[in-house]
Amino acid sequence: MARIRIDPGRCRRCGACASTCIAPRRVLEIGEDGEPRVVDESACIECLRCALICPSEAIDIEVSQLSMTALYDGDAARFLERLF
Ligand code: SF4
Ligand code: SF4
Repeated sequence: MARIRIDPGRCRRCGACASTCIAPRRVLEIGEDGEPRVVDESACIECLRCALICPSEAIDIEVSQLSMTALYDGDAARFLERLF
């Protein structure tokens, strides 16, 4: 399971991380204060989209080796297509 950390000191409250998440179940939500929160870490599919889109590098994701192996099959172009 992924471990997701969001640094509130770096976050600009743009909401991009929650918007870009493609997990079938909600992982991130934006609070009324504009801050993103992790609501269900177990729902994360470890695609890394949120961390890559974040303009202030506020998201740190520790992924499990198993899921990255599932996502990457040796074809770099297809791997990037899956991410974006
Ligand atoms: S994308 Fe980054 S800066 Fe924007 S809300 Fe998410 S953590 Fe904050
Ligand atoms: S890594 Fe992917 S699935 Fe997990 S929270 Fe970020 S965008 Fe959502």
